[in-house]
Amino acid sequence: MKTKVISVNREALKDGALLEAAQVLRDGGLVAFPTETVYGLGANALDGQAASRIYAAKGRPSDNPLIIHISKKSDLDQLVETIPETGRKLMDAYWPGPLTMIFAKSSVVPYATTGGLDTVAVRMPDDAVAARLIELSQVPVAAPSANTSGRPSPTAAEHVYQDMDGRIEIIVDGGPVGIGVESTIVDVTEEIPMLLRPGAVTLEMLCRIVGQVEIDPAIAGPVQAGIKPKAPGMKYRHYAPKAELTLVEDRDWNGGPVSINVVNTIRNLVSWSGDKGRKAGIICTDETKNLYPDSAVIRSLGQRNREETIAHNLFGILREFDSLDVDTIYSESFWGENLGQAIMNRLTKAAGYHIMKV
Ligand code: AMP
Ligand code: MG
Repeated sequence: MKTKVISVNREALKDGALLEAAQVLRDGGLVAFPTETVYGLGANALDGQAASRIYAAKGRPSDNPLIIHISKKSDLDQLVETIPETGRKLMDAYWPGPLTMIFAKSSVVPYATTGGLDTVAVRMPDDAVAARLIELSQVPVAAPSANTSGRPSPTAAEHVYQDMDGRIEIIVDGGPVGIGVESTIVDVTEEIPMLLRPGAVTLEMLCRIVGQVEIDPAIAGPVQAGIKPKAPGMKYRHYAPKAELTLVEDRDWNGGPVSINVVNTIRNLVSWSGDKGRKAGIICTDETKNLYPDSAVIRSLGQRNREETIAHNLFGILREFDSLDVDTIYSESFWGENLGQAIMNRLTKAAGYHIMKV
């Protein structure tokens, strides 16, 4: 299959190019498109066959459900059995935006879209290109991240092209995304909502609207054998770079700059790897990038106190490391007040929970 790339101009967004992509979606084809979080790989969510093609293109396990994207709040009604009070409040507060909610699904949503579950994940993206494309397609659009399963999520159209060329009909190139980590996921089917995946809508922002929120244990650590995480995607190794990744974390970090302990540990690890003939990469920030030896491939995520920049650059740099010749990567940790939870959730998963506390 030949994959067509359609570039759109955000400053003067016209329907012209999007109409073709919308038609492809309506006809059961696959279209990758930008959202404010990461690029999504879209198909008609109400067409089981179209949704199945997403799994094939990504190499995604068929029990890992898709998120349905809608362009107006009223489109939710047909997809779900009921909208609980908590869900209603959260959607009033944060839609359109980087918040996905889990509801009991209605009969129009095929099991191919929900990975066999009786619940459905829905989100209304806050991106003009995504919103207009979905609106023009006149169908709800199932769209997981547009990467090959197991690779870092795409934050630019080039990343989608690397993974999906020849596998899908269209890539809509709307430039780099804004946030760079995937949406927050909250299950609102129980009385007390449960956070299943941290994102740009933080725990604190959720609690402010609905009071109490529980946290799925799968967020904090590896999923134990025999235990079924609520978000099936949590059991798969995600965002995995090809090189082995180790996170070095400050035991007593309290919001300030990274400690000299972390820097020295990474320096020692790099030199130890070098002795073993292994080339090392380092993920750090502008403040520390000059403290590391030139023998390593050094990449800065930006200024440490700019959480948005760190989140925005994270997946691109993990992806870049895949094309560089490194055997092992050492990364500083990036706890922060807002996006910190989401950043560290993705990084610890990428590291396969390989964390050194110093
Ligand atoms: P992605 O869009 O690639 O980030 O993947 C979608 C994420 O949403 C995965 O982690 C899924 O496990 C999760 N998800 C989708 N639908 C449901 C659902 N019905 N219940 C729980 N988690 C879901
Ligand atoms: Mg994904």
